[in-house]
Amino acid sequence: MLLDGEDTHYSASQYLLMPPDVQRTAVQPAVDPCHHPLEDWLCATCLQALCFVAAFAIGRRAERHAPWWFLDPQTRTGKTAFRCTWAILLPLLCTWTILGISWLLETLDNTPECFPHGSYLSPPVYACSQILCGLCAIAYAIFVANVWAAQMNRRANAAAIAAIEDDDLVDRWGKQHASVSPDLCGGLLACDFCELPRHRVFHEGGECSICLNGLDRGDIARSLPGCGHVFHRACIDLWLVREPCCPLCKVAVRPRQRRPSMDY
Ligand SMILES: [Zn+2]
Ligand SMILES: [Zn+2]
Repeated sequence: MLLDGEDTHYSASQYLLMPPDVQRTAVQPAVDPCHHPLEDWLCATCLQALCFVAAFAIGRRAERHAPWWFLDPQTRTGKTAFRCTWAILLPLLCTWTILGISWLLETLDNTPECFPHGSYLSPPVYACSQILCGLCAIAYAIFVANVWAAQMNRRANAAAIAAIEDDDLVDRWGKQHASVSPDLCGGLLACDFCELPRHRVFHEGGECSICLNGLDRGDIARSLPGCGHVFHRACIDLWLVREPCCPLCKVAVRPRQRRPSMDY
């Protein structure tokens, strides 16, 4: 309760928390003209930058210091650390930068005297900090978009390899590993391979134009529909996941019984 003669210096928040009857008798405090805490904005921005660094350090440590760990994180900690950077920290940085710009412009327009003379925290310093924050946010958003594209390529690579890999392919070409390049994404789909004809070679003769080895008795081969060129199954499948055409004559290879629904 305020009494006559009592010092009535209190903040706006204290005033708002007073009961209504006390508010009526109290003097409404003046709004601080320098109420935008730009120094705090700068400190919080530095804190956010440290959070980015910490998230990457934690993720990299969880992924045993793999150089491109964020492309295919194997641990829950790694996945969470990278997800935090784009789902929490990036939106926060964007919002915080916009808020800082609005504070700076408002202060410059209405109360430019709030910037103390001679202080190193001058309007140009704040403006440069905010431009830097905006550029960093844009650059990180582009980086995340590229990581997502690479992750999609990797998943498509893994599906293509799983569709064609068997002991024969590993014997001829070694173990295949999914990569982030789109190399293995331009050809037939995994479901198309079971529609292609294949046969076992009974009479030796001819050569596989991909591996340059002979088509020996007992080898599994494919005779491509459309042109009839024959290759080892492993060799031509590895080609067809990249290019949906014959490597010799470039005739398009189409599965025999492609269902209309598979085109969608
Ligand atoms: Zn071959
Ligand atoms: Zn051909």
